[in-house]
Amino acid sequence: MIETLTVSVGALQANCHIVRDSARRDCVVIDAGGDSDKILSAMDNLGVKCAAVLLTHGHFDHMGAARALKDIGAKVYVHAEDGYMLSRISPAGFNIGGFNAVEPDALLSGGEELDIAGLKIKVYHTAGHSRGSVTYAIDNNLYCGDLLFKESFGRYDFEGGSFEQLKTSIDMILSLVGNYTIYTGHGPCTCSDYERKHNPMQYYGRI
Ligand SMILES: [Zn+2]
Repeated sequence: MIETLTVSVGALQANCHIVRDSARRDCVVIDAGGDSDKILSAMDNLGVKCAAVLLTHGHFDHMGAARALKDIGAKVYVHAEDGYMLSRISPAGFNIGGFNAVEPDALLSGGEELDIAGLKIKVYHTAGHSRGSVTYAIDNNLYCGDLLFKESFGRYDFEGGSFEQLKTSIDMILSLVGNYTIYTGHGPCTCSDYERKHNPMQYYGRI
């Protein structure tokens, strides 16, 4: 059985999702913002070791603890277009503290099917919030970072953001057949059926 424990971390209360197959002692961490101690103690309580940090995008509030997890053996994944954000904060970048540079171990391009910690993980390139934003699909769950939120959608005014791309990516994710549980980058989780009806992006065209 796939289990997700979500921990809110850092000044912006970004969601860090600890995902595992309950039969195993390892996990992946999808987004790792600040508060590495909080993430490490949540993993300790579950009795799991982190095999990989999968970043939905490169913003500081989703990656600040990646280096601490890498230091204890996790591999760090990010889309190639956001890779540069892990080594420096650009002048146009967004940061209110908590940035820690980390070298990614794998650069994604979208379309991959990863097999880590006993999990089959599909990668979708869902640009719009940043050029290299991705959504990870595991079982009936989507982990979409700051692409969309419950009854809302992500900002597109940061470096690399694009409203048109955000809209196209949300259309794509909500067109996936079925009713996925959607774990977002901030706030509560939601699901495809609910967002098809209530996400305000529908007012900007077809979802
Ligand atoms: Zn972001």
